[in-house]
Amino acid sequence: ENVLLSELKGKENVTRDGRKIEIFANIGSENDVDRVIENDAGGIGLFRSEFLYLGRSEAPSEEEQFASYKEVVERLDGKKVIIRTLDIGADKKASYLGLSEEDNPALGYRAIRICLNKKDLFKTQLRAIFRASALGNVGIMFPMITSVEEVKRIKIIVDEVKEELIAQGVTIGNPELGIMIETPAAALISDELAKEVDFFSVGTNDLTQYTLAIDRQNENLAEFYNPHHKAILMLIKMACDNAHKNGIWVGICGELAGDTALTRTFVDMGIDELSVSPTKVLSLRKAVRNI
Ligand code: PEP
Ligand code: MG
Repeated sequence: ENVLLSELKGKENVTRDGRKIEIFANIGSENDVDRVIENDAGGIGLFRSEFLYLGRSEAPSEEEQFASYKEVVERLDGKKVIIRTLDIGADKKASYLGLSEEDNPALGYRAIRICLNKKDLFKTQLRAIFRASALGNVGIMFPMITSVEEVKRIKIIVDEVKEELIAQGVTIGNPELGIMIETPAAALISDELAKEVDFFSVGTNDLTQYTLAIDRQNENLAEFYNPHHKAILMLIKMACDNAHKNGIWVGICGELAGDTALTRTFVDMGIDELSVSPTKVLSLRKAVRNI
């Protein structure tokens, strides 16, 4: 099959022997939604929320966040939108968070570690997401998970937010709750983690960094940063098998998801969803249809 990518709009992501896979898109702000729609993605597999928090002097309000999430969710018109909670740390500056300089920001006070500590900040974001979840098909995803304990703490806070919104008479939806598998620890205990959540999404950018002990931002290490390393593929396979064993779905939202040299491998593993930059959706669809 040698077709123009534009001719693949509206077509299924299906292999020649009938295996279907979801192809979603990653976005970093509501401005990216046009490209998601243009490229016929099946949904948004990773909505990075950092843009709301960066380059300003105070945290974004619930209303401001709600307005962004609402716009994206409504424009996706019933297609799934997976919003990732704040994934910020000492490398991405937000003065109002009062983060100190760190020698190893990638291993530091970041992402869910900040959210579990600054509960008000976390709850404000969750309130905005829960409100948006009433308007479409929303999932919530938590970054940088390393333990079951963290997930249990998150779920207690999520329940508090839901109860408070309901008590206030606010309409909420029933979003799926998922976690990113982007630390080796999370992949290794994915059997236990799968019992706590509705889905996994593998973050291969950080999973590669932490598994190979290679700073993903250090250009001098580019030749060693190898996401095709057997160890990475073994961890992805482990997360995939443990997800399915426990009846939940699993996707990949790191850069590797769009690497068509591995599409066959991911389909063979049984990965349910691949989320890539909007401009890669159709080339990935083509790769799937050629399997
Ligand atoms: C990842 O780590 O693979 C990922 C998708 O998240 P980010 O690139 O935002 O860290
Ligand atoms: Mg990451």
